Amino acid sequence: MSKAKVLDGRRTAAELRAAIGEKVRDLQREGKRVPGLAVVLVGDDPASKVYVGQKEKACREAGFRSFLHHLPASTSTATLVELLGGINEDPDVHGMLVQLPIPGHIDWTEAVRTIDVKKDVDGTHPLNLGRLVMGVDTVVPCTPRGVMYLLKKYGIDLSGKRAVVLGRSNIVGKPMAQLLLAADATVTVCHSRTKDVVSVTREADVIVAAVGRPEFLKASMVKPGCVVVDVGISRLDGRLVGDVDFQDVSRVASWMTPVPGGVGPMTIAMLLQNTFERYLELEGV
Ligand code: NAP
Repeated sequence: MSKAKVLDGRRTAAELRAAIGEKVRDLQREGKRVPGLAVVLVGDDPASKVYVGQKEKACREAGFRSFLHHLPASTSTATLVELLGGINEDPDVHGMLVQLPIPGHIDWTEAVRTIDVKKDVDGTHPLNLGRLVMGVDTVVPCTPRGVMYLLKKYGIDLSGKRAVVLGRSNIVGKPMAQLLLAADATVTVCHSRTKDVVSVTREADVIVAAVGRPEFLKASMVKPGCVVVDVGISRLDGRLVGDVDFQDVSRVASWMTPVPGGVGPMTIAMLLQNTFERYLELEGV
């Protein structure tokens, strides 16, 4: 019997997307240029293709222009850098991102530094990540921003709470930890070398799971009343599942995000929001 209440990412994201779409329709009525998003996909990872398709669809529905650049897996760092440099110069593009993961031979640090910091809609540029750490106004990576938006919308107070982030990737775990810290939580980050993860998670008032391991988090690892946010997306026996065993953990958690319908839709909504904000800055409207 499920006890936890649901942090409804699907509904929240739909509201956000509708509001952005309305603003874009106003721009269209005024004959103004509309926001444009460029997505670069390198290789043929099936999950990445799905995510890129979802981003294109979201752009279309909001009235944005979307530009997909699909490169082969063998693409060199130099070729990717050249493409990104060209996109930087395109006035119809206000936001750009490279879909992760990219093939291992590509120098990601080199590539991401090429992205115009003003068009960096996933907050991956070192300057934007640095500003995030400093607590200075910046572009916040879409997934962690979506998590924070959802927590705020449902009135989850983070001040003084013990928050545990599972995972330390540059795109989710690390920025997530910074945002929780900025919201005055006491933050612990766990990773694959953390000893006795259970003793850490059992202390948590809030857990954000981003490890990419299907149904990793069980009820036995969670303190009663904990707020559990599931960033993970994996396939298990043909089902889409997260990093949290939803049925099990919902017996003890107070609030939870489902998969699907939790963080995933929020990531897309925040991508539109970040692109729209970049647009406003670049167009000066
Ligand atoms: P990632 O780059 O693979 O990072 C995974 C992190 O989990 C690493 O820091 C790793 O530690 C840690 N980890 C692995 N096993 C662990 C364990 N047993 N205990 C504790 N930590 C462990 O993945 P990511 O890009 O952050 O994504 C994480 C998940 O979120 C994936 O399922 C991805 O598909 C999903 N995702 C979803 C969205 C969305 O919109 N919902 C957006 C982005 C990602 P080490 O650093 O030590 O290796």
